[in-house]
This record gives sequence, structure tokens and C-alpha cells, in this order.
Amino acid sequence: MPSKSQTTFDVLVVGSGASGGWACKRLAEAGVKIALLEAGRPQADANFSEHKPEFQLKYRNLAPEIVSKTRPIQSKFEVCSEYNYDWFVNDIEEPYTTPADKPFDWMGRLRMTGGRTNVWGRVSLRFSEADFKAASHDGYDTDWPLGYKELAPYYDLVEKYVGVTGIAEGLDHLPDGQFQPPMPLTCHETLFRNHVKEKLGRTVTLARSANLTRPLNGRGPCHFCGPCERGCVTHSYFNSAFTTVADALVTGNCTLISNAMAYKVLMDADRNRARGVLYIDRNTHQPHEVTARTVILCAQAQESARILLNSATTQYPNGLGNSSGALGHYLTAHTRSGGGRGEFPALGEKPSRGAPVKPVGIYIARFRNLKGNPPHKKFIRGYGYEGGSNVDFSWNASGFGDAYKKAILEPRVSFEITGFGEVLPRWDNFVEIDPNVKDIYGIPVLKIHLSDGENERAMIQDMGDSAGEMLEAAGAKNIRTYANPSAPRWALHEAGIARMGIDPKKSVLNQFQQSHDIKNLYVMDASAFTANPCQNPTLTIMALCVRSCDFLMQEMKKGA
Ligand SMILES: Cc1cc2nc3c(=O)[nH]c(=O)nc-3n(C[C@H](O)[C@H](O)[C@H](O)COP(=O)(O)OP(=O)(O)OC[C@H]3O[C@@H](n4cnc5c(N)ncnc54)[C@H](O)[C@@H]3O)c2cc1C
Ligand code: SF4
Repeated sequence: MPSKSQTTFDVLVVGSGASGGWACKRLAEAGVKIALLEAGRPQADANFSEHKPEFQLKYRNLAPEIVSKTRPIQSKFEVCSEYNYDWFVNDIEEPYTTPADKPFDWMGRLRMTGGRTNVWGRVSLRFSEADFKAASHDGYDTDWPLGYKELAPYYDLVEKYVGVTGIAEGLDHLPDGQFQPPMPLTCHETLFRNHVKEKLGRTVTLARSANLTRPLNGRGPCHFCGPCERGCVTHSYFNSAFTTVADALVTGNCTLISNAMAYKVLMDADRNRARGVLYIDRNTHQPHEVTARTVILCAQAQESARILLNSATTQYPNGLGNSSGALGHYLTAHTRSGGGRGEFPALGEKPSRGAPVKPVGIYIARFRNLKGNPPHKKFIRGYGYEGGSNVDFSWNASGFGDAYKKAILEPRVSFEITGFGEVLPRWDNFVEIDPNVKDIYGIPVLKIHLSDGENERAMIQDMGDSAGEMLEAAGAKNIRTYANPSAPRWALHEAGIARMGIDPKKSVLNQFQQSHDIKNLYVMDASAFTANPCQNPTLTIMALCVRSCDFLMQEMKKGA
């Protein structure tokens, strides 16, 4: 029998990452009593290792097999290393499955307060009106149930708090925000920016990024040490553990319950209302119930969908709040399989092992299929690029002795850009519960079906070709482009699967991320996205979450 909490909270939030952190901050600061269930351990500055040299690690960061033994999937992405691998899910204990012909690497699964914001790349871009209304433009699928003007004030609010360094460019399709002063571009990034604009009319800008350049709310400006994914004792990048969640806890209105793996949402079937959550304590493996008047899922897109699917009842046999049948469907995740790299002559730079490291590169704004431009013949929607320049020693120089010592000091400037492309929402990209597999806590796991279609394949080819075109325009040498087959598939920007929409017969949530079926149940992470434009999702996740919390508080005042 599960033990039961003594208190009934106003709101129960599952997950303390980008979305959950904001839900807790917004509600707790307004006086709402919250329980925050987080599967991971508490995060603390003592865990941060951004200034720790490799020689102080037990295996000098040179034994990847130590990491991959328990994190074979997580360690495929370089941010998971000997420094921080215990922040990530143990892939053996918490597996998922895929069909044999659709391999998918579900990376970036964190088990710490702060979730993915502990290790994220921090690129923070707004969606535009054209993104929210893309279906009206090209006729594919459906528009979002809200537009840019409804979200703009929330983008402002979130950016001012998060601290986003950026350059205003005046582009309709990549709206400017409330930026902190920009970090400088390197000489080569500036050269690339200028040539690409002059010759091709495309906008290369600083990757708008959640790294401070000015002090903010007790957080210090970035001091360019480099590896943000290992934490930051000056709190200079945005991590919900030391920002939104910390603010919520300070109010005294938010109770953090760590190591609490939410299994299912509990229902009061007679009233058709959520009444709390059943969770498994990760240390004791014992079940517990926490009750609340409203439940908000913020566990990351697939994790929230898993909880809803595992919460099926007689009334909702295909998953909670799934009268539409859309729950689990329309999984999207950016494709990053096209790009290019080249080399530039050094402009006076010298390589160094201890130089400052700028943690922010460049972003190339989308230029395909914009309003007013002729549509691309082979694909709809678009892509942007992230990238930047890097000065290094000529490690591959030839020769021996003095000649080699001299040659290795010749600076080598490499420049790389990687496309981030929109993947169309499709019914046949979906998640379901695998009836045959449970995790170590006894919770049924997800089976994930994701593959690219014709549109994505054509887009990937264009990403590679256009990367070559831009590197050439900027005068790069030794250009190598790539447009790889898009399997095995992996992702860090998953969205969809509990989509918002106007029509309850075709969508799971309304524009305030409230279940169409169950009025006191909300899903405020990216699973609510109707589509997944090429810009990175997290700024929009946070802005939507704050807007939905404001709606929820109005509902609570009405006694709903
Ligand atoms: C390496 C990397 C780089 C990235 N770079 C960028 C970028 O540059 N820009 C960008 O916009 N986005 C980026 N992202 C994506 C970004 O981190 C996510 O979009 C964002 O953090 C999602 O927020 P969330 O609240 O949905 O989930 P998360 O931030 O992942 O938080 C979810 C939390 O829920 C907890 N949880 C999960 N399941 C349960 C459960 N059953 N019970 C209780 N708790 C649970 C987890 O432990 C976690 O703490 C990146 C991600 C990664 C991994
Ligand atoms: S580079 Fe800046 S934000 Fe990143 S860890 Fe270092 S100081 Fe913090």
C-alpha cells in the first residue's frame, strides 16, 4: 500500500527543469502551495566541476568505458563525461525500447534538480508569428492555437530573468528579445557574418544564449571558463536549479520532494478530476501518494507522455486525457544531420591551452521558405545553423623534433556549422508503452518510434549544400560538407505528443496547456507543442509555461 502525504497541496508539479522550475517560481511567488516531485537528486554548487582539471579525476577523463558501462546512450553526446555522468539517467536501470528498424538515441535524460538545464547548450531563440501560423502558409498540418502577440510579453519576462546575450537583428522570422549586451564574435565569426550577408543576404548573428554578460539577481557575469555543462559556481548560465527552483524554495511555499519517480496521475473518477500523483521513491523503491488540487506535468516531453499513458483508467483506457487519441503522436525532434566545416588563415591569433573560452558561438537565421520568398522545390519549413570558429594547434603537423615543435605551433583555425532543421509532425512518429519492459522501479517504459521522412531528407541535403556555399562565400579553405542519412536518429529537442489545439477531438491540450478532458490537469513542457520550428525550443517552453500558470491562477481564483 502506498504511503499517503498528510498535506493536500494547491498544485503538484512533476519535474524541476526548464518548465517545472518556472511553474514553481511563478506559482510559489504568488502564494500558491506547491509540491515539486523530482526524480533526481538535489543539485548544489559543490557538484560543479567547471574549473577542475582532468588530472584530478580518477580516470583523467580518459576511460569512456567507465561512463558507457552504465550510460551507453547518454555518453554518446560529449556533454556526458567522467565529470558529470552521475547526473544522467542510468540507461540500464531506466531503459526504453525502439523498433529494430528505427533506432533512436534518447540522450540528455537528467536525474538532478534542474533537469536538462544543467547541461543544455543555452541557445535561446524566439519563435515568430510565421512559426505559429506555418500551416496557414504552406498548408501542412495545423496552426498553433495561439500566436506571437499572445506570447511576446512572456518572452520579455522570461528573457529579463534568464539573462540572454544577443544582438538585435530586426528579423520578422527571428524576433529580437530583451538582450543583455552581446558577447563579442571572434574575428573569423565577424568575417563570416559580413561575407555571408554581403554575398548571400543571409543573417549570421551571435547565438542568442542564456549566459550573463552583466550581473543579474546575485548571479555573476560569465568569466569564459568554457565547460558550462559541468555547472557554474558564479551561476552565470541559466540552470533552473539555482534560479527558478531556488527562488520558489525561498518563498517557503514550495516543497521539493527529491528522488521521486512519478508513476501515474491519480484520478477521482466520479468528479473527473486529477487528485494527485503516485510516485516511487528511487532510494527505497516504495510507493507514495501526494495529493493536490491541480497537477502539472513538466517532466520533459517523452517523460510526461509516459506518465499520462501509464495513468490509463477505465474512463481513459488509452491514456489519461486521451479522448482525442492524439496522445503519444506527432513526436518531432530537430534533425542535425547536415552541415559543413572549413579552415581559415589565422588573423594574428595564437593557440593556447589555457586561453579564455567563449561559451557562445554563432547562429545562422533560417533563410528557406520565408514569406515573400519563392518556396524551395523539395521541402517545406526550414532550418538554421549553430557553429563557430576554433583556433587550435596543428596537431597533425608532419615532421620530428624541432621541426615538429615549430610546426605544431602554427595556428589552425577551423570553422564549423551544423544545421538544426524542423521535423514535420506526423502521426506515425509516436511513443507508446512497451507492455514487456519495466524500469528498475517497476514502471512500464516507453517504446519510441521516430524516423525522418522525405521532407527531412531533402532538407538535410540542402543543409549540407548551403553550408558549403556559405563557407565558400566567406573564403574558407578545405571545405568539407556532410548530409548524412538520418538514422540512427537522436535528439535533444523533442516536442509534440500531447499537442495543443483548438479542437478537443484532434488535440490533447488547449492553448493554456490544460487538458481538454480533465480541467485540473496541465502539461507544461514541450510535449504541448503543436509543431517544432527550427529554433531551439526552451525559451518558448518557459514563456508558454509562465503564461499557462497565469491562466491557472485565474482559474483557481474562480474556484475551478
Ligand atoms: C546537451 C543538451 C543541449 C541542449 N541545448 C539546448 C539549447 O541550446 N537550446 C535549447 O533551447 N534547448 C536545448 N536543449 C534542450 C533543453 O535542455 C530542453 O528543451 C529543456 O530543458 C526541457 O525542459 P523540460 O522542463 O521539459 O525538461 P527538463 O529540463 O529535462 O526537466 C525535466 C525534469 O523532470 C524530471 N523527471 C523526468 N521524469 C520524471 C518522473 N517520472 N517523475 C519525476 N520527475 C521526472 C527529470 O529528472 C528532470 O529533472 C538541450 C538539451 C541537452 C540535453
Ligand atoms: S563559461 Fe561562463 S557560464 Fe559557462 S561555466 Fe564558465 S563562467 Fe559559467
